[in-house]
Amino acid sequence: MAERACPRCKRVTFDKVCPVCGTNTSDNWTGLIVVIDPDESDLAKELNINIPGRYALKVRE
Ligand SMILES: [Zn+2]
Repeated sequence: MAERACPRCKRVTFDKVCPVCGTNTSDNWTGLIVVIDPDESDLAKELNINIPGRYALKVRE
């Protein structure tokens, strides 16, 4: 089963609907980043990520 990603908040998940924001997820995404401590990560701030987890860099709907 392929992992999916949310086009709105970039969260990577196996679910068809994002568990964070409720948007339908897409299987067309690239780039994986892992955020462990959003408060200490400049990249997380840039991407507006405030929950630790795995995120895609680009997601197409
Ligand atoms: Zn989302």
